[in-house]
Amino acid sequence: MNIHEYQAKALLRSYGAPVADGRAVLKADEAKAAAGALDGPVWVVKAQIHAGGRGKGHFKEASAGEKGGVRLARSVEEAAEQAAAMLGRTLVTHQTGPEGKQVGRIYIEDGADIARELYLAMLIDRNTSRVSFVCSTEGGMDIEEVAASTPEKILSFSVDPATGIQGFHGRRIAFALGLEGKQVKQCVDLVGKLYKLFTERDAEMVEINPLIVTSDGDLRCLDAKMGFDSNALYRQPDILSLRDESEEDSKELAASKFDLSYIALDGEIGCMVNGAGLAMATMDIIKLYGAEPANFLDVGGGATKEKVTEAFKIITSDPNVKGILVNIFGGIMRCDVIAEGVIAAVKEMGLKVPLVVRLEGTNVEKGKEIIAGSGLNVIAADDLDDAARKIVKAVRG
Ligand code: GDP
Ligand code: MG
Repeated sequence: MNIHEYQAKALLRSYGAPVADGRAVLKADEAKAAAGALDGPVWVVKAQIHAGGRGKGHFKEASAGEKGGVRLARSVEEAAEQAAAMLGRTLVTHQTGPEGKQVGRIYIEDGADIARELYLAMLIDRNTSRVSFVCSTEGGMDIEEVAASTPEKILSFSVDPATGIQGFHGRRIAFALGLEGKQVKQCVDLVGKLYKLFTERDAEMVEINPLIVTSDGDLRCLDAKMGFDSNALYRQPDILSLRDESEEDSKELAASKFDLSYIALDGEIGCMVNGAGLAMATMDIIKLYGAEPANFLDVGGGATKEKVTEAFKIITSDPNVKGILVNIFGGIMRCDVIAEGVIAAVKEMGLKVPLVVRLEGTNVEKGKEIIAGSGLNVIAADDLDDAARKIVKAVRG
């Protein structure tokens, strides 16, 4: 689960990390009071969406020369005007995709005088099973770009959980970033606090881009992105309360309400599968036959008819879906239950695209009978290979 920049900064502040004073607003008429509560003389007005690249992004239907989602203002009035100009509009960045994201919240912050822009991030490195730091002198820009063109400018290392964070970790980062004097001590202090926040709050990713050196020579977190482990949210109620459902994919959100593991993808073949391994194999074989999966969907081992119906609805609500492949192995879950769920869903939603069903396992004969007797235009398949060929043929011809 991701959170907004202003929420991440409040968390950073609660751990004693250096951030500027700021206020978040949901409505344009709150903006003037919010800006007025800050010192100035420069304010930064920032669109809050769960995507980076806002500064270089653009609004849909922007007027000529209009700025992106991060704007400087020289007065309280101007800050309020900028907030009003951004609220409710759609911001497109290289991370949102061409459809962009609607801006429902604005963060107004005391502006900083920037001497240097650096990069500092933490994430879980699956190769070493440890928390890793990533840092670079090339902050403020697209780190993927830096990684591609000048990988030598990125330093990363992991922290041994047995010893935890140590002073040398922070010093290593400070030297890699070319910090000097009081900044070294500030860096060691910041790195320790970030590590504490990361581990105590079950974070998955923390990215400070840019971490800046101000004109006074102090370190400050100018931007903050954070993601948290969804499996740990049960023990992080205050993190969970920061969830902004309007930022999430509506299909993924519906799926999470029914405890379905669903991830939307770009392809045209909707998949309903039980078991993550089988779901991966199904996606692979669709690709093997030259098409692309529209989603990953694991209905789980103990899915009910209701869950199957819901899963089907989520798949059919995706306008990119040109065909559906149901691939179920009835182990704990019986094939006849799946068949009933599919039929119920098709009756409720209507079926506008070809549907291939492959069932195997417990009560498979009964399941096939139910589908065959339903009178619906369902293409039966004998095995996974046959199913993949049939659905790809039905979609791609
Ligand atoms: P992002 O574009 O979504 O990553 O948003 P950021 O918060 O990183 O802001 C983008 C850029 O705006 C930064 O890299 C800075 O160059 C600039 N910026 C942000 N805040 C300030 C500020 O307080 N003062 C100044 N002068 N520039 C800022
Ligand atoms: Mg940034």
